[in-house]
Order: sequence, then structure tokens, then C-alpha cells
Amino acid sequence: MAYPRLVIDQTILRHNIRKILDECHELDIDVVAVIKGINAMPEIIQVLIDEGITTLASSRLPQLKKVKSLHPDIQTYALRISMPSEIDELVEVADISLQSELTVIKQINDVCEEKKKTHEIMLMLELGDLREGVYNQDEIKELALTIENDLPHIHLRGVATNLGCYGSINPTDEKMNELIERADYISQLIDRPLEVISGGATTNYPLIANKTMPSGINELRIGCGFYIKDQDELLNYRMIDQEAITLEVQIVEIKDKPSYPIGEITVNAFGDKLEYVDKSIRKRAIIAVGKQDIGGHNKIISLDKQIDIIGGSSDHTLLDITDCDKHYQVGNILSFHLMYEALLMSTQSEYVELKFK
Ligand SMILES: *Cc1c(COP(=O)(O)O)cnc(C)c1O
Repeated sequence: MAYPRLVIDQTILRHNIRKILDECHELDIDVVAVIKGINAMPEIIQVLIDEGITTLASSRLPQLKKVKSLHPDIQTYALRISMPSEIDELVEVADISLQSELTVIKQINDVCEEKKKTHEIMLMLELGDLREGVYNQDEIKELALTIENDLPHIHLRGVATNLGCYGSINPTDEKMNELIERADYISQLIDRPLEVISGGATTNYPLIANKTMPSGINELRIGCGFYIKDQDELLNYRMIDQEAITLEVQIVEIKDKPSYPIGEITVNAFGDKLEYVDKSIRKRAIIAVGKQDIGGHNKIISLDKQIDIIGGSSDHTLLDITDCDKHYQVGNILSFHLMYEALLMSTQSEYVELKFK
């Protein structure tokens, strides 16, 4: 058996998907499953499809290409506003995309004309998180009218927004109502209703659970919520009961050592200047997993709450196990919850094994 490994529990995964789909469907909200956080893992995609998902989304076109080759009937949705250099590929592998720049949208129209295709666009609107999206009202008007009247190979399917990323803005019902208002404004301009108003991602889920999602929002793009709890502890909120993916790693060293480095302190291997607290001698364990596999040592959470994760480098993560009731030994396996960054990194790593159960 090889470590580190991700343990993927398909029964829990199925249960989580069902719960989320049921709760969303009850409010007439369609769920697009986002697969970028799990590196488009085919086994997980299969479970998503078995449970009724018909649209898969990713920011990375090679992942959508993989979906199209494995499941030609599944609708694909590109999440990152497109690079001008990837429009040919976009039109090949994605049915729908999020966009915010007219020059790019015109380019998509031209490529579609050559390929005798149509492409569906969701216009990305800026609601304050300050990542991608059109902010200016005149620009919204120009984009909507141009797409509707001058670009015959583009269908304006709806509008979308993204919150809770760069600006850490909470997707509240007020924000959702703002999105609905802008969609109404566009509908009046183009004299037809937009089919889809896409409210956001996993971070929108509290509005579903509390049933405070304004009616009008009819799509969510859910990724990590199916797989991990991620920020439940930080946001004091529970979306799923159990996580479908956990990380198992092996202990490679256990020794009593001082907690304060001995010698002249400069910067660490990554150029960061760290603060160290002197707690005198502590029992420390090293596990064989590092930044290369998980992004950062603070992106995993120990299932044994008495373990303190104190640091890490590319290949090692350092633990303080002084306060553990359990007597760990070299060779023991420890389990961890993954936060988003660790899920993203570990699922792409060729050094992290996968174990399905
Ligand atoms: C990644 C992403 C999502 C899904 O995010 P999760 O937090 O995994 O649910 C939704 N929309 C956009 C635009 C994204 O980039």
C-alpha cells in the first residue's frame, strides 16, 4: 500500500450529491457540478453522472475535453473567462462559458461561424468581490445588446456572478437580489427573459439550507461542497455530514526536540521569515507529505484533534504530538481533512495515490 493517499468514499460521495441535489431541486435550482477541485477524476465524474448531474464545469479546458471524450452527452461549462489564445479549443470542448470581455465574445462568434456552431454565454457580472465580471451599467448594456443583435453564433443564456473569492464577500440574499435586478434589466433591453441566473458556488449554500435564496436564482455551480467540508469550521456552518475525501499519510520520524530553532535564524526554504515560539522540548512527528502535495501545511486539518500541525516544507509536514493520548510510532498512518487548496493540489499530484472505497 502506498502513501500519501486520498481515500475516496463513494457511498458518502453519493449521499452528499443526493442531499445537495434534493435541496436545490426543491427550490427549482439547477446544479452544475464543478470538477476542477478534483482534477476531473473520472471515478468521481461517474458518480456525479449516476446521481443525475447533466452539466459538468471546470476552469481548465483540458478537463472539459476529457469529459467530452468520456461522456459525449454531458453538457460542458467553462468557468474561467477565456484567454484569447484558447478560443478554438473553447468552442470545441465547451457548450457554455462565463465571459466578460466583448472582444473575446466576438472572437468566439467568429470561431463558431467557421465551425458552424453556436456557443452559449453567461455574462459575468461584478457584484463586489472584485474578481471577474462587468461592473459598469453602460458596459452591461453594450454587451447584452451586441451579443443579442450582432453576434448570430452566440446565445446569451443568462448572467452569473462569483462571490467569496478575492474579496471574501459573503453571497447574501441582497447580493442575489442585485443579480436578479440586473438580469431583469438585461431582459428588458433584449425583450426576452434570460434562461439562467447563476448565483454562485458552494459559498452560496447557506442560502439554500436556510431557504433564503431569492426566487429567480435558478443555477448554482457547486464543486468542493460535494467532496469536503472545507470552511465549515471557519464559517460555523454544516453543508454535508461526512466528507467524501480524506488524506492518509505515514509517519517517518518521531523525536523529542526543542521547539525553538538552534542557531542563527534567517529565512526558510520558501523565502518566508517565520516566528517561532519556545515551548522547550516537545515530541515531534514528521509525516511524508509536503507543500508539493497539499499546498501548505495549514491547508489540512488533523482528525486527531490533539495533533498540532506546526510547519512544513516541500516534502515534510511537522507535527507536535506531545499532547496526544495515542502513542504514535514511526510507520503509523494519520488521517486529515483537506481544505480547498489541499484538495486541488493533492488530486493533481502524481505522488499522491488514490484509494476508492
Ligand atoms: C471554482 C468555481 C466554482 C465552484 O467553486 P466551489 O467552491 O468548488 O463550489 C464556481 N464558479 C466559478 C466561476 C468557479 O471558478
